[in-house]
Amino acid sequence: MSVLRDFQLPFPEKDSIFTVAGLAAKAKQTNNDVIDGTLGALYDDNGKLITYDSIFKIVRSLTNEQFASYAPITGGEEYKETIKEWILPNKNTIPSCEVNASMGGSGAIYLTLSQFFNENDDVILLSPYWGPYDLFVKSRKLNTVKTPFLVDEKFNIDSVRELLIKSAKEKKRVGLFINSPANNPTGYSLTNEEWKQLIQAVNEASKYGVVVLVNDIAYIDYSEDLSNSREYMNYFNELSENVILSICVSFSKSLSFYGLRLGALIYYTKNEDDLALLRKGITLETRATWSNPNHSAINSVNILAKDKEIFNKENRKYASLLLNRGKTFTKFAKQYNLPMYPYKEGFFITIPGCENNEDYCERLMKRNVFLVNQGDSVRIAICAIKENDMERLVKILKEELK
Ligand code: PLP
Repeated sequence: MSVLRDFQLPFPEKDSIFTVAGLAAKAKQTNNDVIDGTLGALYDDNGKLITYDSIFKIVRSLTNEQFASYAPITGGEEYKETIKEWILPNKNTIPSCEVNASMGGSGAIYLTLSQFFNENDDVILLSPYWGPYDLFVKSRKLNTVKTPFLVDEKFNIDSVRELLIKSAKEKKRVGLFINSPANNPTGYSLTNEEWKQLIQAVNEASKYGVVVLVNDIAYIDYSEDLSNSREYMNYFNELSENVILSICVSFSKSLSFYGLRLGALIYYTKNEDDLALLRKGITLETRATWSNPNHSAINSVNILAKDKEIFNKENRKYASLLLNRGKTFTKFAKQYNLPMYPYKEGFFITIPGCENNEDYCERLMKRNVFLVNQGDSVRIAICAIKENDMERLVKILKEELK
């Protein structure tokens, strides 16, 4: 007899990203030439993790009580206002939306999948996508449906529309994950026009069933044009009644809060009675899982939000560091004729690689280049690679392509 329950998570035991990162860390102990493009955290050109002084100064100024006390389950009214002001482009964008604090962006995704779906509903993922989405979806007993994110270097609107309508008709409820701007792993961002088309497709599908539109914005604060990076959210006002919008916010990257675990779920549906019931569900789900969020992190962000001037300067400095790395990689990829997905901004670049990317990544490791094999593509965490290493990296990537 087995002690195991019937339902097991369909995932390899080893997390592929952390396995390769471990190998890279070991290689670095004896070799200075190692290029480690595995983990999604921002490092400076000396290999040191970048942290925002503006926020950690505030964290360190908190009283013991501000650390020790319980936070309100949802994060509280002040945090709600902080999030709306930080994320939404203006006060008229989905003004009646709700906000709930979460354990990082992952917590916001968890709440979304737990509360806005019925078992076995379809969730559309756009390949290549952040690997853990698969685990998140399947751990909630939901079904993944996959289609390419981009076709001819543009958002694959035709296939997304078709799949939304198909699943809405068949299952009466369907989810769609859009990680934009600064998509992980490609670095692509949907244009405003593409968002407009997507909202139209979501509304069309919502005639046949409920559509849950999930916008994961973990990397939004590294957009090249920060002041216009949220403009597309104004189209959310045009969503139909039969749609639930979920915006998954993470401070892991925006504030280098990876380990402090803070994020938020912004959620919205047009019908106010339904929204009130969703609020009940989200609050109860929070209570039943992590109970209440990290109060020191919430207090710090609330204080920072009152005056973001120094933070904004730091942010642009680090965003430029990243964008320059992306531009340099792109320039050399063109020069050496290395195919890549269209990068605009963000922590990662993805190349299609070759037929067998497992072998390709093995060959790269022998040349001290550590990257993440995504099956049909290879992810390069430029957030952790020096700009000076980009030409050497591109050359090796090209030489090992077979
Ligand atoms: N979404 C994407 C696309 C990510 O890459 C990450 C983190 O790597 C997250 C969400 C979740 O971030 P966290 O839970 O660390 O805030």
